[in-house]
Amino acid sequence: MNVTCRALRLTMAHKWTIASRLGPGGSGGTVDFPVAMVELADDASGLLGRGEAAPSTRYGEDVESCLQFFAKVDPGRIDFKDLEASRDYIENLEPGHHAAKAALDIALLDGHGQWVSRPVHELFGLDFQNGVPLTSFSIGIDAPEVIREKVIEAAQYPCLKLKVGSPSDEANLLALRSAAPHARLRLDANEAWNTKEEALERLEWLARDGNIEFIEQPMPAGTPRGDWIWLRQRSPLPLVADESYRSAHDAAFCQDCFDGVNVKLVKAGGITPAFEALQAARNLGLKTMLGCMIETSVLITAAAHLAALADYLDLDGNLLITDDPFRGVACDRGKLSFPEDLPKSGLRVVPR
Ligand SMILES: [Mg+2]
Repeated sequence: MNVTCRALRLTMAHKWTIASRLGPGGSGGTVDFPVAMVELADDASGLLGRGEAAPSTRYGEDVESCLQFFAKVDPGRIDFKDLEASRDYIENLEPGHHAAKAALDIALLDGHGQWVSRPVHELFGLDFQNGVPLTSFSIGIDAPEVIREKVIEAAQYPCLKLKVGSPSDEANLLALRSAAPHARLRLDANEAWNTKEEALERLEWLARDGNIEFIEQPMPAGTPRGDWIWLRQRSPLPLVADESYRSAHDAAFCQDCFDGVNVKLVKAGGITPAFEALQAARNLGLKTMLGCMIETSVLITAAAHLAALADYLDLDGNLLITDDPFRGVACDRGKLSFPEDLPKSGLRVVPR
C-alpha cells in the first residue's frame, strides 16, 4: 500500500463568515479554505482509495496536523481486504486527529468497497434512494444587501440555512425573506450567544419569521447542562447540537439538552464513527442532521452514503466553492443523486 497526501486550497464562491470567526465591527471571513487530501494506492490489486480532511481549528486541527498524522501511518498496516484491522490501527495510532482519521477511514472504505464491488452505503446496510431529504444551501454572515444577492443566486435551492450570531441578524433575515419569502429555513448560530437569556431573546425575535425549522448551536458547547435545559424548555425553535455533538459519546447529554444533533464526518472521525453517532442519536429519539465543512466532493459524497440515517441534510460544502477537483454525488435543486456514469462501487467519486 502507498499512502500519499497533499494540501489543497479551495476557493469560496463568496467570502465566508460565521459567528465564531466574526471580527470586530463585522469584519472577518475567508475567501479560501485549506483541506488535506489522502490517497491509498494498493499495487497488488490496482485499487485506489481517496479521502479528505477538512480540519477545523475549532477542534484543534489544521492541515499541517493532518499531514503530520498521515506521515506517521505505516502503509504495511493498511489493507483494503481487512477493514477491521486497518481501522483499528488508524484509530489507535494516536488520540484525537479526528479530521485526519476521517480522511483515512473514507479512503479505506473507498478501497474496500471497490474490493467487494459494493458502494459504501451498502457496507453499512443502507439504501441511498429511499427518502433521502433535500440538502439545505448555506448563506454565510454578510451585509444585508449581499445576503439578498446570495439568496437570489441560490434560488434553485428550496431549503436554506442562514448563519446568525452577528449584530445584523434581524436585517439579514429580512433581506433573505425579501428574496425567498417561502424557502424552508434553518438557522445556525455557531455558539454565538453567551447566556441563556441572550439566546432566548434572540430566538424569540428570529422565530417571529414563522417558518424556521430549527436553530443549530445557539450557545457555546461548554454551556452548563442546566442552562441548555432552561433554554430548551422556553425556546420557540427546536435546538440542534453541532459543536456540542462530536460523537456518539455525547448522545446522552444531547438527549437532555437538544431536540436534534448535527453529525459531521470530520468531527466524528470518519464514515464509521459518523454512522455510530447517527445511530446513537436516533436510538435516543433525537432528530439527526448530516452536516459538513467547506470541502470537496470527496467528503460530501462520503457523508451522502449515510443520508438514509438523516432527518435533515446540510451537504453543501462543495457547492460553496468554485474549484472542486472531484465529482461524486450530484445536487439538483437540493436533491442528491449519484450520476449513472460514476463507478458503481466504493465512494463513487472521480477526478473532474
Ligand atoms: Mg453548525
